[in-house]
Amino acid sequence: MEDTGGGRRDDKEERRLPPPASRLPNHGVAVLALQGDFEAHRRKLAEMGIPSFEARRPGEIEGAAGLILPGGESTTIWKFFESVPWEEAIRRFAASGRPVLGTCAGAIVLARDVTNPAQKGMGLLDISVERNAYGRQADSFVGLVQAPALGGDLPAVFIRAPKIRGVGPGVEIVAALHGEPVLVRQGNVAAATFHPELTEDDRVHRMALAQAARPRKTA
Ligand code: GLN
Repeated sequence: MEDTGGGRRDDKEERRLPPPASRLPNHGVAVLALQGDFEAHRRKLAEMGIPSFEARRPGEIEGAAGLILPGGESTTIWKFFESVPWEEAIRRFAASGRPVLGTCAGAIVLARDVTNPAQKGMGLLDISVERNAYGRQADSFVGLVQAPALGGDLPAVFIRAPKIRGVGPGVEIVAALHGEPVLVRQGNVAAATFHPELTEDDRVHRMALAQAARPRKTA
């Protein structure tokens, strides 16, 4: 991290002054911005009045109010994780109890078990997922998913989406399509196999980030 105070002089006068608001780094919800549709999530959050920022280095998520792992390509996201210690930073973030939302590829990254093809999962959600599970004919579509806990049906955009094939006992199914889970949560970690950032509806973000929208209690 760079010292924004301008060098290493022990200038107490200067240190007492808070940085101007516009220079406050990394304020609000962190959106992992390595790859995929992180901009759409940021637009959605802005519409909801939730401040956010693009996280490109693991250290940047440390002070965030919440974390979003966007859709994209999970294999590519893992490639980034190989060379930079994102995995550790995300685990630490999730363990702190702050909200984490993974969408599509982000959901795949959070899962315990990943097939088709098999790949590593972080296991922050006790679910098993099959990638690209809707087949070629229907690989991208808009559907109405059933989300009684969120007040009823929800429009959902599926893009080369995975299917959740198994859920552990601690996982709550929040929305389903044809009886199959598409939105789940386990404590502070939630995941959607679809793209809630691409519709007008903001119930998924609201549900997943409820805590982040409120002032944080000190742990
Ligand atoms: N098919 C992608 C994967 O397997 C996910 C697609 C998406 O995020 N829209 O990672």
